[in-house]
Amino acid sequence: MEASNGPQRSPAGLFLGGYPISRGLDFFNDSSIMPTMQFIRDIYAAKQASNRPVISFEFFPPKTEEGDRNLLEKTIPALKQLQPDFCSVTYGAGGSTREKTLMIVDRIQRTHGITGMAHLTCVGSTQEQIGEVLDQARALGIRNILALRGDPPGGTGKFKKTEGGFEFSYQLVQFIRQKGGFSIGTAGFPEGHIACQEGKLVDWERLKAKIDCGADFVLTQLFFDNADFFVFREYMAKKLGVTVSITPGILPILSAAQVKRFTEMCGARMPAPLLARLEPLRDHDEAATEFGIEYATKQCEELLREGVPGLHIYTLNKARSAAQLLKNLRLA
Ligand SMILES: Cc1cc2nc3c(=O)[nH]c(=O)nc-3n(C[C@H](O)[C@H](O)[C@H](O)COP(=O)(O)OP(=O)(O)OC[C@H]3O[C@@H](n4cnc5c(N)ncnc54)[C@H](O)[C@@H]3O)c2cc1C
Repeated sequence: MEASNGPQRSPAGLFLGGYPISRGLDFFNDSSIMPTMQFIRDIYAAKQASNRPVISFEFFPPKTEEGDRNLLEKTIPALKQLQPDFCSVTYGAGGSTREKTLMIVDRIQRTHGITGMAHLTCVGSTQEQIGEVLDQARALGIRNILALRGDPPGGTGKFKKTEGGFEFSYQLVQFIRQKGGFSIGTAGFPEGHIACQEGKLVDWERLKAKIDCGADFVLTQLFFDNADFFVFREYMAKKLGVTVSITPGILPILSAAQVKRFTEMCGARMPAPLLARLEPLRDHDEAATEFGIEYATKQCEELLREGVPGLHIYTLNKARSAAQLLKNLRLA
């Protein structure tokens, strides 16, 4: 366990120079003192000891100023009321959101006092550049990184290693561990990673390798059949001897077309009964959202009964479904 360093101060103007963020959003309040944030591995340990699930929300960096305002001034403040244990912010395809990811995590931590986690990928970056991002994260008091390989820009085709960069996320995990000072998360795939042609068991062995390299906890890809998660969890724990927490990633569906797009991209299976329920809702996002809450509630009820260490909720930057889901589960 690493020691706390006491209150930290934002480094003045670290990113403000090149960042086209909407004026008046007050991303960096240089005079603010931020309480030291927790390592996520410690959050899981404490919650496990008190037999309560770790609740986390995932956001993505918006592409527009309106999106920034919605996320920062509406969604995050609304979800803060639910007292999440931590919030994470994705790293855009091709590393395109590098600075914005860190800035939103900074905002989550500094303004809202919630422990944050920055996602970080290997895409389009040399080791040196990744090292710089980690230095910037550290300077902002960010103590948690989700270490990912990332997808090829555009989301399709074969991943190409950048010269001087990393080919697989286990190398990024090793690199961050060597640097020290972060709790490291890694991605797990209950149905196997889409690009792993050798099959899911090989992919799960590679996940074990990431953990052996220093990952402290696993967050999973979205899935819609809990049986897939249970088989995966059992294999990781019983066959591979993994002891770190493996937390399911839950997507409350917002729209039939959107979820089909997502699942095609990441290779997650949609069970036939789910597809049948969604079919008549194709052009009715409001009804699809209601159904998504109902489906996610049932999914999470079973997962919690079966002792998952937490729920990582893909919010898609919207508060309503995540909030209703936690209320239904009596976790809010
Ligand atoms: C919770 C979560 C959050 C995510 N957040 C983001 C994000 O913010 N930004 C983003 O761009 N993407 C994100 N992704 C998507 C992720 O980057 C992609 O799924 C990516 O294709 C795989 O990343 P990884 O870290 O699992 O890669 P890796 O662990 O490197 O695995 C990638 C592929 O390589 C194979 N492999 C691993 N090791 C070896 C080896 N030694 N030899 C041969 N093959 C190997 C694996 O089986 C797999 O098929 C997220 C995924 C999850 C589950």
